[in-house]
Amino acid sequence: MFQNINARTRILLVLLVYTLLMFVLVLYVVLQLRNEAEDDERRHLRLIAELTARHPAQLIESAQQFLYALSGNVSPLLSDPRRCHDFLRVLQQSNASRYHSIGLILPDGKLFCNSVDPDSRVDLSDRLYYRLAAESGQFAIGEHQIGRATKRHGLNFGYPVMDANGKLLAVLNVALDLAKFAERGAMRQMDAADGHVMTIVDRNGIILAHYPGSSYRIGEKISDPVVLKQAFAMDSGMFTATVPGGVRQIFAVESVGNNPDGISPIRVMVSSPESIIYAEANRVQLRMLVGAGLLLLLMFLVIWFGANVLVLRPFRVLLDMAEKVRSGDFSARTGMAGSHELARLGGALDMMAEELSVREDKLKQAMLQLNEQAVTDQLTGLPNRRYLWERLEAELMRAQRKQATLSVLLFDIDLFKQLNDRWGHAAGDLVLRNIAHVTRKVVRGSDVVARYGGEEFVIVMPESGEEVAAARAEELCREVAALRLSYNGQELGVITVSVGVVCSHQNTQSAEQLVRLADQAMYEAKQGGRNRIVLKRLDAAT
Ligand code: GH3
Ligand code: MG
Ligand code: MG
Repeated sequence: MFQNINARTRILLVLLVYTLLMFVLVLYVVLQLRNEAEDDERRHLRLIAELTARHPAQLIESAQQFLYALSGNVSPLLSDPRRCHDFLRVLQQSNASRYHSIGLILPDGKLFCNSVDPDSRVDLSDRLYYRLAAESGQFAIGEHQIGRATKRHGLNFGYPVMDANGKLLAVLNVALDLAKFAERGAMRQMDAADGHVMTIVDRNGIILAHYPGSSYRIGEKISDPVVLKQAFAMDSGMFTATVPGGVRQIFAVESVGNNPDGISPIRVMVSSPESIIYAEANRVQLRMLVGAGLLLLLMFLVIWFGANVLVLRPFRVLLDMAEKVRSGDFSARTGMAGSHELARLGGALDMMAEELSVREDKLKQAMLQLNEQAVTDQLTGLPNRRYLWERLEAELMRAQRKQATLSVLLFDIDLFKQLNDRWGHAAGDLVLRNIAHVTRKVVRGSDVVARYGGEEFVIVMPESGEEVAAARAEELCREVAALRLSYNGQELGVITVSVGVVCSHQNTQSAEQLVRLADQAMYEAKQGGRNRIVLKRLDAAT
C-alpha cells in the first residue's frame, strides 16, 4: 500500500497522524475546561439561588409575624367596618414599604374591610390564601394577583382569626407589594455581566420578581412549561433545559415557603446560558485550534521545503551513487560521514564500491595476464603465431595508408633435429630461448618478433626497405653463429639459421602471401646451403 509513496509524502503522513493526535489533545483539554467551568458554574448558581431565596423567605416570615400580631387585635374591629378601614389604612401606611394593602375577610369570603377602599365588599372566597387559611386554620401563602381594590401586583398571605373555641371569625390578609419587593433583595446584587438570570415565580409560574428586567415583567407567566415543570419537580436542585430561542441553560432551584396543604408555593430559579459558561473554554479552544493550525501550516512548509535539504538530499546522494556504481563507475562515492542511519548506509555503500573497485582492478589484471598468455609463447617469451597474424595485418594496413615499405623475415634453425637428437630436447629448448634473445637484440623495438612454429621465427619490420631488412638478416645470421652455448658442460657447437626476406613496396599482398613468400625464400636459403639469407623483392608486378 505504501510502495509508491515518496519520502516527502511519507513524512507528511506522519505529520497527519501527529495532527490528529494534536486535535484529540485539544479536544480533551477543552472538554476538561468545559467540565471544570460547568462544575464551577453549578456551585456558583447554587450559592446564588440559596442566597436569593433568603430574602423572600424572610419577607414571608415577617408577614406571618405581622399577621399573627394583628390577629390578636382584630375582634373589636369586626363590629364597625369604617373603624376597621381606618385602622388598617393607618397600619398599611406605616408598612407601605412592604405591603400595599391589608384586609379582613369574613368566614363567608366577603371582604369586611380593607386599607384601600372603605366601601369595597368584594367576594374573595376564591383566593387561595383565603381558602387555605380558612380551611386549615394556619398561615397561608397565596398566588400572584393584582389587587381588586389596589390594582397593584402583589403576593397575598392569609391568616385566620379564631375565637376562644377555635371558631373562625375572620381571615386577615396582607398583600406584599411586588414592585417594592423587586427593588430590593439579593437579586440587585447580581452581576448581569455573568449572564445570570434570576426569577422568582409562584406556583402557577407567574413572575413575582425577575432580574435582569428585560425579558419578563412581574405578573407575566413563564413561557416555557418544561422549565416550570422541572422547577416544581424539586425543592432544591439543578437541571438543564433548552429555553425558547434554542439556548441551553443550567438552572439552580430553591423553594421558598410552605403552605398548609404541604405544597411549597414559590420557586427561586437562577440560570446561566451554556454559551457564557463555556465561553472561556471556547476561547481557549479557538486559540488552541488557531495556534495548532498555524503550527501545522508552518510544519507543513518546513517539511515540504526542508525535507529536500534534511532528508531527500542524502537519499538522492545515495541513489545517484548507486546508479553510478550500477553503470560501472566504481569510483563513485557518497562521501557521507556521521553516525546517523543514512550516513552509515552511505559509508557502507562507499566501502562496497571500494571493494568492487579493487576487485575490478584485480579482474582486469587477471584478464590482461590471460590475454598475454594467449598470445605469448611460453618457452621463449616471444609473441606467438596468433599475435603475429594480428600485428602483421595491422602493420600492413598502416603501411598501405602511409605508402611505406614493409619487410617480413622468416628464419629456421638449421639441422635442429640433429641438435635435439644429439644433446637432448632440453638443450634444444636452451637454443630456442637464446636465439629468441639474440633476435630481439638485433631488431628494433618497434619490430615484431614472433615464434612462428617449432624452430621457425618471423620478424615484421615496418618501414624497412630491402637494404635494412637484408642487413638485419645478415646481422642475425652472424649473431646466431657467434653464439657459444653449452648444456651440462657440453659445448653445443655452432648454430646457424636460414633466413627468407620479403620486402613489399606496394603492400598489395595479404599477410598470408607475404609469409608464404618469406617461407619460400627461407626454403631457397636451405637449398642454397643454409646459414644464409635469400631476399625476395616484391612489387605490383609480382
Ligand atoms: P633443416 O635444416 O632442414 O631445417 O633441418 P632440421 O633438422 O632443422 O629440420 P626438421 O624440420 O626436420 O626438424 C625440426 C626439428 O625441430 C624437429 C623438432 O624436434 C624440433 N623442434 C621443434 N620444436 C621444438 C621445441 O620446442 N624444442 C625442441 N627442443 N625441439 C623442437
Ligand atoms: Mg623447420
Ligand atoms: Mg630447421
